[in-house]
Amino acid sequence: MSSDDGELYLDAASTEPVGRDVIDAMLPFMTDAYANPASVHRTGKTAAQALDAARRSFAANLGARPDDVIFTSGGTESDNLAVKGIALARMERMRRAATDASSLCPRIIISAVEHPAVAESAAWLERFFGFEVVRVPVDSTARIDLEALDREVAAAPERTALVSVMLANNEVGTIQPVADVVRIAHAAGVPVHVDAVQAAGQIPIRMRDWDVDALSVSGHKFGTPKGLGALLVRSRTPIEPLLSGGGQERGLRSGTQNVAGAVGLAIALDGSIAFMREHHAELIASRDRLIRGVLDAVPQARLTGDPEHRLPGHASFIFPGVTGEALLVDLDARGIECSSGSACAVGRHEIPPTLLAMGLEPSVAKSALRLTFRRPLSDADVNRTVTAIRRSCTALGL
Ligand code: PLP
Repeated sequence: MSSDDGELYLDAASTEPVGRDVIDAMLPFMTDAYANPASVHRTGKTAAQALDAARRSFAANLGARPDDVIFTSGGTESDNLAVKGIALARMERMRRAATDASSLCPRIIISAVEHPAVAESAAWLERFFGFEVVRVPVDSTARIDLEALDREVAAAPERTALVSVMLANNEVGTIQPVADVVRIAHAAGVPVHVDAVQAAGQIPIRMRDWDVDALSVSGHKFGTPKGLGALLVRSRTPIEPLLSGGGQERGLRSGTQNVAGAVGLAIALDGSIAFMREHHAELIASRDRLIRGVLDAVPQARLTGDPEHRLPGHASFIFPGVTGEALLVDLDARGIECSSGSACAVGRHEIPPTLLAMGLEPSVAKSALRLTFRRPLSDADVNRTVTAIRRSCTALGL
């Protein structure tokens, strides 16, 4: 992650490097045991056994059962499958039950700070299927307003196809009270999807204990190659596939499975969780040293997100008076690699939408900076980052 004079990578929420152990575990399934896991011959069976073992390990580490796991091409696909697939399946059931199906207006409830993979999937349902999309507000720390959620769910439970709320926010690291969200939605008979892309491998996830219906994860956030992920979805939850084909993955994700990818997902998640168990307190301590250091060094700086309910390796700030974009460029020149919010807005330096939903003025939200890491920072790394931020702010006239 760092060297004394090289780049210090503080952009783990965007993506992480792939561990050598993950590559080593994946390699045999691209060379010797390369067969299609659906093939009946011996090499095919070897591949199928590896896929099963990966599914079992992956599920256990997320508090799920092996048959909950649908392997996908990453977080975006998992979110799309959950939001569109569950909403369309439930809409179909509502139509069948309705006396006048033509007047049925299905709804979907999401939080105001969802990632575009969820928010745009909901917008797609609105555009093409006439869904009403309800966006539940958040407070100034990005925590969902549970009373507003309760009111919205209760307003029309029979028309509400799904509630989708992220476990941890990508821009400000806030962790949502998912157990409360599930309690509220289930009391009205509405299933819950949780986007756990930023949380998986960082904080414990117990899908079945929490009674969550569907949960999305993405491998490249915890050390697999990009383009690997999973949707965990309970068999009780109605869901339509988005891809038609050979019926792999319980018919929900057709296409020959990526056995090497599934093996990589299982190994990387297992490794991340083991690391987290051992270093969680250390990671939080280094995050808090960094936060204190930045707030002390730049009096105008303010922490964004929830100070307590936040990801262990996530520090995010606003620096009113400078733009996050200018800060990023200046910090990059000083060897600090970080981001202004969401990396998923392909090269666009847009105002982080979560900060707007938290009630910040666009001119202030534009000054956002996000520092994210999966391993505890050394004191030297903290000092180097704080010094670079102070110098950048001074250079930019703050
Ligand atoms: N959901 C959240 C909260 C994310 O942060 C991201 C990516 O950053 C995604 C979904 C999309 O995941 P992927 O990059 O695997 O498509």
